[in-house]
Amino acid sequence: MIEARRRVRERRRQSAASGDREVAHGTWAAYTTDKCRCEVCREFKAAYMRRWRARRKATTGPEDEPTTGPTTGPTTEEDTP
Ligand SMILES: [Zn+2]
Repeated sequence: MIEARRRVRERRRQSAASGDREVAHGTWAAYTTDKCRCEVCREFKAAYMRRWRARRKATTGPEDEPTTGPTTGPTTEEDTP
């Protein structure tokens, strides 16, 4: 019985890692929460960083802030461990 329970837990962890469950790729949720590093998500993050930097440099105003995503901007430049 313990074996079965452990197997379920393992399967759940695997499904989360392999993207078995639904992941909205190309979003902050996928990149940060699901830690997805697929091409779509990486491209999204790269584009977001470019936009974020340009916006920060321009300082056009707080109304330009995105409605979704981090309020203080990305904390990590690279995802190197
Ligand atoms: Zn992805």
